[in-house]
Amino acid sequence: MRLKGKTVLITAAGQGIGRAIAEAAVSEGAQVTATDIDAALLRGLDGADCAALDVRDTSAMEALIATTAPDVLIYCAGVVHNGTLLEASTTDLHAAQAINVEGAFHAIQAALPAMVARKQGSIIAISSVVSSIMGAPGRCVYGMTKAALIGLMKSVATDYVGTGIRCNCICPGTVMSPSLKQRLEATGDYEKAKAAFISRQPMGRMAEPDEIAELAVYLASDASAYMTGQAVVIDGGMSS
Ligand code: NAD
Repeated sequence: MRLKGKTVLITAAGQGIGRAIAEAAVSEGAQVTATDIDAALLRGLDGADCAALDVRDTSAMEALIATTAPDVLIYCAGVVHNGTLLEASTTDLHAAQAINVEGAFHAIQAALPAMVARKQGSIIAISSVVSSIMGAPGRCVYGMTKAALIGLMKSVATDYVGTGIRCNCICPGTVMSPSLKQRLEATGDYEKAKAAFISRQPMGRMAEPDEIAELAVYLASDASAYMTGQAVVIDGGMSS
């Protein structure tokens, strides 16, 4: 029960990594508020309080976070734009920025006052190894915005290091999530696309969402009390 006594709020908890983190946090004894733009996806998340939340709806998000005042904020919302710089429009850039960066900016702004008053808090954002850590083909807007997210988290960690608040990023490699499955299906040949993805994985497999959730539980828990400002890579050796 590594999170017993803690309140945890998670964005984009309907499926994939966010869902796995929400389930792990419940089983580790936390009082969990699980949110997602698609409330139907939160069904079956037993033991959590569930709420519909679009991270682009700044006022709704600020109100929910201010009311919940979580000890642990986990910002998991993220969107993948597929394409090179010349294949990305300003609209694509703004759409990715709104979810991958600005949502985190506003969520943290809403969570910090109660954390400062309590002199404790752990903020975790799901970035990606495709960010300031490494590039990947056709991931210009994605990598750029995930790098900005790391910059945001390091800045908050630095400004609040003396207040008992910690702020870390998780940087996964390739994780077998529902959206990745959809992207593989969209190629028209799921098995071929999956095999191509796996062939780029040094360990010969992708990560499961549970493996990322285990790291999130560690960063949320007091076991990681000496860790802040880090972009923790969990990528099966992709960037090594
Ligand atoms: P996913 O893409 O399968 O699911 C994303 C979830 O986010 C869905 O439940 C969706 O309803 C929700 N969502 C979408 N837009 C939202 C919004 N505006 N507000 C609130 N919720 C919204 O999940 P995933 O692939 O596990 O990705 C989760 C996070 O992990 C993302 O930030 C992603 O960039 C990051 N990540 C994923 C991988 C991977 O390979 N899957 C790798 C590195 C990083």
